[in-house]
Amino acid sequence: MGRRRRVRPSTAEIVVIGNEVLNGEVLDTNSNWLAKQLYFLGLDLRRVTAVRDDLEEIAGAIREALRRKAEWIITTGGLGPTHDDMTLEAVALATNRKTVLNPEALEMLRERYARLYEMGVVKESELTPSRLKMAMLPRGAKALRNRAGSAPGSLLRYKGSRIISLPGVPRELKDIFLNEVVPLIEAEARRVVRYVAGLFVKGVPESTMAPVLRELTAERPKLYIKSHPKGLEEGVSLVEVVVHSEGQDPEEVRKEVESAIGVLEERLRAFQPVELRRVSMEEVLGGER
Ligand code: ATP
Repeated sequence: MGRRRRVRPSTAEIVVIGNEVLNGEVLDTNSNWLAKQLYFLGLDLRRVTAVRDDLEEIAGAIREALRRKAEWIITTGGLGPTHDDMTLEAVALATNRKTVLNPEALEMLRERYARLYEMGVVKESELTPSRLKMAMLPRGAKALRNRAGSAPGSLLRYKGSRIISLPGVPRELKDIFLNEVVPLIEAEARRVVRYVAGLFVKGVPESTMAPVLRELTAERPKLYIKSHPKGLEEGVSLVEVVVHSEGQDPEEVRKEVESAIGVLEERLRAFQPVELRRVSMEEVLGGER
């Protein structure tokens, strides 16, 4: 096989915004969901930062990500109609511009409130100042349609980065990400293919299997092999070993992982485990992707 040039995937960062996350009131599931998405889209997520609903704090976090030249900066939270929703102000501040009434966002909000009015959800279809606030995007930004809620998302290209702002409500975040952001990433990002699978091992302590994992890692340096201890069950240790691979050819990366797990299975059998069970990618990731 010819030598292929290694692709360096595009870098990404996530900025999570919200007092409720830092107060412990809300569990930040958004960054976890986004991290999985970005991992399997083949990007390189470098950092997740959480900040309070404070203009300077948010702008500071975005400036730092820009300074690190993150190519995709995704913010979550703070797009709503209330005064403490200030993410887009902060994006504007970090990129030396103002927010302006965005015609696409305005149209999306008009349609949305006309529909909510017809359904009897709101008493007036007019765009009140609070509703209009959600149409104020940083100058030069593109509005991203929100099919699951009101506040449109925002995409601002700035130098080599794209700053994408999504709502905090998980259903809305997912809607905009899957419908608007994924096609953009597919069209514009440098990506790798990834594959993950694992082996559930009962009855071989992590310390006993450590040399086996070390040896396999040395033999297959392209792979990332990691053990996760899962505690004890009736005095017997439970460990999940996970193998990751990335590259350009989906079939190749899958085979590399499967073959490593096969070898691992063989070598761990020597320790007479109580149970050895293959774990699928879905199971490793704990459900939804
Ligand atoms: P909307 O446009 O609907 O007002 P928003 O962008 O203003 O959304 P926030 O006000 O920041 O979003 O958050 C709304 C709700 O979404 C929170 O009360 C919380 O329930 C949920 N939420 C916010 N951030 C997260 C997060 N990081 N992970 C999970 N849920 C979150």
